[in-house]
Amino acid sequence: MIKKTFRSMVILILCMLAICVSLIMGVLYNYFDKQYVTELKNEAVFIGKGVELNGLDYLNDLPMKNCRITWIGTDGAVLYDNKADAASMENHGDREEVENALEKGDGFSTRYSKTLDEKTINYAIRLDDQTILRVSSDYDTMLHIVLGMIQPILAIVAIALIVAAIFAYRLSKRIVKPFNDIDLEHPEKAEAYEELAPFLRKIEHQNRQIKKQMQELTRQQVEFAAITENMTEGFLVVDTKQKLLSYNTSALVLLDVQGEVEHENVLHLNRSENFQKAITLALEGKHNEQSMKFGEHYYQLFANPVFQDEVLSGAIVVIMDVTEKEQRDALRREFTTNVSHELKTPLTSISGTAEIMGNGLVKQEDVPHFANIIYKEAQRLIALVGDIIKLSKLEEPDMTEQKEMVNMAEVVESVVETLEVPAAKKNISFLVKTEDCVILGIPSILNEIVYNLCDNAVKYNVEKGKVTVSLKKKEKRTVLTVEDTGIGIPREEQERIFERFYRVDKSHSKDIGGTGLGLSIVKHGAAYHNAEITLESEVGKGTKISIIF
Ligand code: ADP
Repeated sequence: MIKKTFRSMVILILCMLAICVSLIMGVLYNYFDKQYVTELKNEAVFIGKGVELNGLDYLNDLPMKNCRITWIGTDGAVLYDNKADAASMENHGDREEVENALEKGDGFSTRYSKTLDEKTINYAIRLDDQTILRVSSDYDTMLHIVLGMIQPILAIVAIALIVAAIFAYRLSKRIVKPFNDIDLEHPEKAEAYEELAPFLRKIEHQNRQIKKQMQELTRQQVEFAAITENMTEGFLVVDTKQKLLSYNTSALVLLDVQGEVEHENVLHLNRSENFQKAITLALEGKHNEQSMKFGEHYYQLFANPVFQDEVLSGAIVVIMDVTEKEQRDALRREFTTNVSHELKTPLTSISGTAEIMGNGLVKQEDVPHFANIIYKEAQRLIALVGDIIKLSKLEEPDMTEQKEMVNMAEVVESVVETLEVPAAKKNISFLVKTEDCVILGIPSILNEIVYNLCDNAVKYNVEKGKVTVSLKKKEKRTVLTVEDTGIGIPREEQERIFERFYRVDKSHSKDIGGTGLGLSIVKHGAAYHNAEITLESEVGKGTKISIIF
């Protein structure tokens, strides 16, 4: 802006200088021209008087003058000329100034040289004897004067221009300074020209609007980021060229991508066939769902095309980690297989025994024995079904039974009482050490926990073994410990015994009894009461299981 203002000013000054110089020259020229003519007239009148008095002698006696003096007779013949031979001169009767002088008493004419740089002014007066005296003088025309003065004029113009340019530059800076000083963030504080006030008000208004819109945008962005960042599901947005436009951290974590991925081709994030398929189909405008296995994890992909004004503009892919669900499904499948197997064994036994008896192949005295087999197998079935029901109830998220204050010492005593007969069969002695411990829980589940632990301690104990059940308070927590002097559990099996249907010694399980679900019930029951389980066991020495409520 400084440059433009400066240039305009210099052009203006230059034009003004040119106009001023021309006008001044014109005025001066006009003034001196008039002056010159007046002088010429006076001279003509003066010389005319001399000629009227002394005739040709007066002219001959005149000292040599700059101007030309011509005396013309009434017929136009030249009688005298101080610059040329009068006799050789042509008739001057037709000259404008002579004609006018003859007619009106005086006449005036101006003639220019061929080069236009000189002009001759002629002034003629009529003398008393009707002859004409003409005085002529040559002088420089305006063009000549200008040409002659070109150098000083140019010098003056140049000096004026330099001075003007300096001032113009300073002035331009001063004019532009208030513009530069405007703080567009706070135009209301600017002390600029009055004329700028509406413009500044408009900027301020627009600033306020931009600020508002920016705040709204930021709020929306933060909201969007908060939603997407808190999603456990992965989230990818791509354009029609498969370029990644947006994503959340979960997406990168699920796909195990590290580093910057902005604007990368989304297919570079994962090479699996179904991932590529999900994107490709979505970008063909088709909603689709794909499953994908990546490392140890299972994912479900939901890919949707995005349309803007009915034109496909990209796709959104939501990635869900369904590993847990997959594992649950696998467990359920395994459980079903196990249950079928566990049910089949006693049922086959019952069916076979019943068939033999039905065919009359069993002697009367053997009937009680076979009936006992059927009874035992049926009991096993009942126990198994009972445990399955208990376990499935525990897995039910909305259990209907209400928690209540349960006196654990009473639970322990009642369980030990129940197990007295089987314990006695193996000469196992019970040692019960209980403190008064009351916990908030579901009585039937707490009973199952204590029963299964004590039952195992008896089942997997040796002849004349010992079972110690203790209940004590430790740092505001209730600790139930069941310790036996039984066969113990190998270290490598200790993790697995809480799995459903897992038994360490599968071959003897039938003799010992048990469903393989006891510790599973303990595990789920403890989890339901937010209790921890610890296990210490050594083969041949015994097992100690604690539940810390
Ligand atoms: P089960 O009904 O077969 O006893 P559990 O789930 O209660 O099933 O126990 C799983 C397996 O863990 C048992 O089959 C047994 O091998 C082992 N086990 C459980 N408790 C003990 C213990 N106190 N001593 C030794 N082994 C045990």
